[in-house]
Amino acid sequence: MVDIAFLGGGPGGYEGAITAARRGMNALVVEKYKLGGTCLQWGCIPTKTLIHAVRMVRTAAGGKRYGLRGGDGVSLDLQALNKQKERVVSKLTRGIEFLFKEAGVELVSGTGRVTAADTILMEDGREIKARNIVIATGSRMAELPHVKLDGERIIGSRHALDVTSVPDRLLVIGAGAIGLENAFIYRWLGSEVTVVELMDQIMPGSDAETVAVLTAELKKQKIRIHTATRTDRVDVQDGVVHAEFSGEESGWRGEFDRVLLAVGRRPVSEGVFDPGLPIRLDKAGFIQVDTNLRTGLSGVYACGDVIGQPQLAHKASHQAMAIVEHILTGRPVPDHAVPAAVFTDPEMASVGITEARAREIHGDQVKIGRFPYAAGSRANAVDEKAGLVKVVAAPDNTVLGGHIVGAEAGELILPLTLAVQKHMKADELLELTFIHPTLGENVWEALAAVCGRAVHI
Ligand SMILES: Cc1cc2nc3c(=O)[nH]c(=O)nc-3n(C[C@H](O)[C@H](O)[C@H](O)COP(=O)(O)OP(=O)(O)OC[C@H]3O[C@@H](n4cnc5c(N)ncnc54)[C@H](O)[C@@H]3O)c2cc1C
Repeated sequence: MVDIAFLGGGPGGYEGAITAARRGMNALVVEKYKLGGTCLQWGCIPTKTLIHAVRMVRTAAGGKRYGLRGGDGVSLDLQALNKQKERVVSKLTRGIEFLFKEAGVELVSGTGRVTAADTILMEDGREIKARNIVIATGSRMAELPHVKLDGERIIGSRHALDVTSVPDRLLVIGAGAIGLENAFIYRWLGSEVTVVELMDQIMPGSDAETVAVLTAELKKQKIRIHTATRTDRVDVQDGVVHAEFSGEESGWRGEFDRVLLAVGRRPVSEGVFDPGLPIRLDKAGFIQVDTNLRTGLSGVYACGDVIGQPQLAHKASHQAMAIVEHILTGRPVPDHAVPAAVFTDPEMASVGITEARAREIHGDQVKIGRFPYAAGSRANAVDEKAGLVKVVAAPDNTVLGGHIVGAEAGELILPLTLAVQKHMKADELLELTFIHPTLGENVWEALAAVCGRAVHI
């Protein structure tokens, strides 16, 4: 009998298990494939490796102004790129295996199923007994009722990681983070990329003003973007994909060489527990949990992608760590705003609520602090002038949301995450000294703008 068993070894399962073991618990992970889960094997890490490579191409292409010669002719050796991606993934996978050994976490390889509050049954009949169980089985690629993945012409994010062949014309259906990152990767690998999105903006739900900047920047890179557009039909005939769309620009058609379906991710909840158990799913199949991430079965928790939005690696791992803390100390699982980013170039990152939502709560009393990258000294020096930092605050300057589009947005969102999660006022953060010249100063200026104290605008 172990103290805690995690079903699934993604960011939720593996980070939770290491945390539990380091807190003195006897911890075990059941994983059917490899440690690291979607994030390490087919998600965050391989995509960011590819993004790093294509960004080098893009930077070189824009280097003329700095006197760089030959930048326009730079190209990527796709086989070498794939190998590098595999090297990164396998090194980090071995790293987790090492951490497991060091922390004393037991890894059980194979597919498991929760059959009782204290039991996971493995496919080969072995039974694992645990005082606490955490279901962290993650998610898988979604399809549309009329568009199914075939892995060749109609692919998902997992197939897109194999960049050994680059389609001339790529259609990306869905303009969330996964769709946009792949649109950016393939655009700079040489595809002509068209993105269609059902909602009226890319990155649906994000702050409209920062989204507008990102949209304009991606369009400047010749990525075609059609919002408020429904994909009605996708047919493959003689190796060519014929697609039909409707929406604002109604009734248009297109021909493509490949389609990337990026329309969300479905929970892996089927078959992970016995049907008779009191564990409930919502209509979409996400496991339902209470505020402390407990399922309806005593001692059985769930976390990460399998319980719903936002489907982000850091959400999964922080939830798993919070479950460990809850078991050990009874501390409630914190209900924090989760920051999110899309790693296109420029990047976009956000935390907390949008300006539109803040206006619903506080009306015209909402305070907005903005600072354009174009006014920042470092941004000019490194030719990263496309961007905006926007801080959304309550009438008393409490920071409610942070929205950044521009270089390093994913890193720069940190002080705004601190402010939103700790309910800090913009004034308090102004006391922090930011190094000059850094892009971080743009964040300081936007916070200062909330308080009427900006210097460079
Ligand atoms: C292309 C792409 C890019 C992404 N980029 C980012 C990013 O930049 N930043 C970010 O925060 N998030 C990103 N994500 C999302 C991120 O990968 C997920 O949010 C995260 O992996 C969820 O972690 P998890 O532990 O809940 O599940 P997963 O990582 O999906 O892990 C679940 C694990 O459970 C195993 N499993 C499932 N069922 C069983 C079973 N019955 N028995 C044993 N094992 C089982 C699976 O094999 C898997 O290893 C990206 C996702 C994709 C697809």
